[in-house]
Amino acid sequence: MDFRLTDEQQQLQDTVRAFADRECAPLAAAWDRENRVPDHEFEEKLIGLGLYGMTLPERWGGGGRELLDAVLVIEQLARVSPLCAAGVFESSVGPVRVIERFGSEEQQARWLPKVCRGETEISIGMSEPEAGSALTDLRTTAEKVSGGYRLNGVKAWCTGGGHSRAYLVYCRMNDRPGPKGIAGLLVEKGTPGFTFGPQERYLGLRGFPSSALYFADCVVPEENLVIQPGGFASLMDCFNIERCGNATMALGIAAGALEVATSYARERRTFGRPICERGVVQEMIADMATRVDAARLLVYRAAANAGTGLAGMKETSMAKLFANETAKHVTDKAMEILGAVGYSAEYPIERMLRDSRGWPIAGGTLQIQRLIIASAVFGRRFDQRLPS
Ligand SMILES: Cc1cc2nc3c(=O)[nH]c(=O)nc-3n(C[C@H](O)[C@H](O)[C@H](O)COP(=O)(O)OP(=O)(O)OC[C@H]3O[C@@H](n4cnc5c(N)ncnc54)[C@H](O)[C@@H]3O)c2cc1C
Repeated sequence: MDFRLTDEQQQLQDTVRAFADRECAPLAAAWDRENRVPDHEFEEKLIGLGLYGMTLPERWGGGGRELLDAVLVIEQLARVSPLCAAGVFESSVGPVRVIERFGSEEQQARWLPKVCRGETEISIGMSEPEAGSALTDLRTTAEKVSGGYRLNGVKAWCTGGGHSRAYLVYCRMNDRPGPKGIAGLLVEKGTPGFTFGPQERYLGLRGFPSSALYFADCVVPEENLVIQPGGFASLMDCFNIERCGNATMALGIAAGALEVATSYARERRTFGRPICERGVVQEMIADMATRVDAARLLVYRAAANAGTGLAGMKETSMAKLFANETAKHVTDKAMEILGAVGYSAEYPIERMLRDSRGWPIAGGTLQIQRLIIASAVFGRRFDQRLPS
C-alpha cells in the first residue's frame, strides 16, 4: 500500500494551495461578512485552472480525473474557506455525477459541457420539511401528463436554492411505498410553477445560497427524467460521491484551523515564552494534528477506492463521520489556543468554527452515518420504522 501522492497529484495540490492563499484568503472574510456568493471573475480563475468538472468525462469538457484529485483540490480550497471550493464541489462531486453515471447520452450532452464551462450549476432537492433523515417519507409528487411530468411539493434547505440554474429533484411517481416510487427529475429555474423561498440564514456557510423550492403544477419535460422510479438505490449510490465531497470540506476546514492555531502558538508569547513551549498547548496541537491526518486518510481512502466510479457506502460514511467530528473538534480547540483572537470576528477561527457545524447536518447527519456504518458492520439492515 502506497500512501504517497503521485508527482502529478503533488503538483496539483501545490498549485491549488498557492492559488487559495493568494486569491481566496484575502476575500474569504468579506464573503462571509457580506453573505456574498463568489463572483464570476473568481469562478473564471478556477475554470482557467481546469478545476471545474474535474471528474467529468473529457469528451464533455471535463478533466476525466479520479475522485481523489477533486478531493485534493477541494481540501486545499476549503482550508481557506469552503465557499472557495463550492464551484469545484458542485461540478465534480455534486448531483451532476448522477447525470454522468445514470443520465442518457442526450442528457449528458445537454448538461455536462455547460457544468464544465461554469454556465450551469446543478443543485439537489431531496429534503422536505417532513423528510430529512427519513428521506423516503418524501411527498413531492410527479404525475405523468402529456409530454412530461406535473410536479407538486416543497423541498427544504436546498444549497444553491434560487441561484443554481438546474435542480435534481427527488420525487414520488407512483403509490409504491418508501423508496420504490422515488425518481429523479431535473427541473430548470424559470419553469412555470417553480418558485423559491427566502434565502436561509445559517450560523455559518455564509455566501452559500440556500432556500426552499416550491413546485405548484410545474410541468417538466419528459426528457428531464434522469432516474426512473425504482432507481432510488442509484441516487443514493451516487450521493456517496457527494458525501466524500462533504467530508473533504470538513477536512479542509480542520486542516485550515490547525494551520492557524499552529502559527499563532509559535508567535504568541505569554509569561515571556511562546505558548507553543507549553505542554498543554503541544498536547492540543498534537491531538488536532493526529485527528486531521486520520480524517485525511479516511477521506483519501474512500476517494481513492472510488477511482472514476462510485464510492463505497461504509468507507464514505466513516470518512464523513470522522471528518465532520474532526472539524468540530479542531476548530473548537483552535479557538481555545487563540484566546480572544479566536473569538473575534476579525480573525478566521470563529468563521471556521461556524462553518464546521454545517457539514455534519448536510448530506446526512452523524447519527445517520453511524447507522449506515453499524448496518455494514453487523451485515444487516436496521429498519428504522419497526417498533422498538
Ligand atoms: C448546510 C446545509 C446544507 C444542506 N443542503 C441540502 C441540499 O442541498 N439539498 C437537500 O435536499 N437537503 C439539504 N440539507 C438538508 C439536510 O440533508 C437535512 O437537514 C438532514 O438530512 C437532516 O434532516 P433534518 O434536518 O430534517 O433532521 P431530522 O431528520 O429531523 O433529524 C433530527 C435529529 O434526529 C436524529 N435522527 C433522525 N432520525 C434518526 C434515527 N433513525 N436514529 C437516530 N437519530 C436520528 C438526526 O440525526 C438529528 O440529530 C442541508 C442542510 C444543511 C444544514
